[in-house]
Amino acid sequence: MGYTVAIVGRPNVGKSTFFNRLLETRKAIVDDISGVTRDRQYGIADWNGKVFNLIDTGGFVPNTEDIFEKEIRKQVKIAIDEANAIVFMVDVATGITDLDEAMADMLRRTTKPVYVVVNKVDNGTRELEATEFYSLGFAHNFFISSISGSGTGEVMDAITAAI
Ligand code: GDP
Ligand code: MG
Repeated sequence: MGYTVAIVGRPNVGKSTFFNRLLETRKAIVDDISGVTRDRQYGIADWNGKVFNLIDTGGFVPNTEDIFEKEIRKQVKIAIDEANAIVFMVDVATGITDLDEAMADMLRRTTKPVYVVVNKVDNGTRELEATEFYSLGFAHNFFISSISGSGTGEVMDAITAAI
């Protein structure tokens, strides 16, 4: 099986952009429910010879508020059960939302390492804004831009330190 890291977060925070950037090889999509709902994608990442499985959650979720939150809660639960470590991705452009808070509440209950990755930190102004996410109360916080790749190396270093 090997070491597994799951990426969780609201839709549009940049999970898939990050996932694709880190990926070495992509496994077949195994969770293809109904042909439309693509629950999770699995890939293998290699960082300086340290290899681990990466799960990208939440490819598509229905956008009715209730179902939406229920689906995201389900995915966080699965991530906590299946992964050795969790990347909790949030978005500096929107700031902390209610859904981020709800996910943070769930993630605080696991003893597995949680890495808060603030994405879309594309410039200095956003770097200042990103400090807001410290208030979620997690020990490991990273500011990155998945588009430029800035900061992603530090996340990989932290993830692979445990392997
Ligand atoms: P997901 O729903 O969490 O998987 O998010 P996606 O990876 O599909 O990205 C959602 C949107 O955010 C897309 O338009 C991306 O191009 C954009 N995005 C992702 N990463 C960054 C980033 O670092 N900076 C900026 N400005 N936009 C980003
Ligand atoms: Mg996605």
